[in-house]
Amino acid sequence: MTTDVQTVTYHCVACGTQNRLQTARLAEDPKCGKCGEKIFPRQPVTVTDATWQTEVIDSPIPVLVDFWAPWCGPCKALAPTLEQIAATRAGKLKIAKLNTEENPRTAGQFNIRSIPTLTLMRQGRPVDTVQGAMPKTALDAWLSERL
Ligand SMILES: [Zn+2]
Repeated sequence: MTTDVQTVTYHCVACGTQNRLQTARLAEDPKCGKCGEKIFPRQPVTVTDATWQTEVIDSPIPVLVDFWAPWCGPCKALAPTLEQIAATRAGKLKIAKLNTEENPRTAGQFNIRSIPTLTLMRQGRPVDTVQGAMPKTALDAWLSERL
């Protein structure tokens, strides 16, 4: 008989403290042991080539990456939709925004040719990708089929 509890260590979005979380309880949207805030973000987070590993690859919850650029009109149109989804799926899905102009390494790795491109990542691996701005209902349905 084993009493081992599977845990992951992840940083609090509010204060940066590393928290040990029980894998089985991730869906309960855990709070930080230090500051009491929810560990997972309620809004889109900005990721860069430098933070890609910690924010996306090491994330214990799935991540929807928005590859975007400041000059891209459809990307701006998509932003409010992503904010809403970040709030409604908080604790279960993280929304990460990567500026492809400033972070060519990651954009190149993913062979991003048109933006916006949304890539769903789970346990550090791409699950599926969709291109172009989608209405919220369509994007919600797309996510629900894959989460
Ligand atoms: Zn905290």
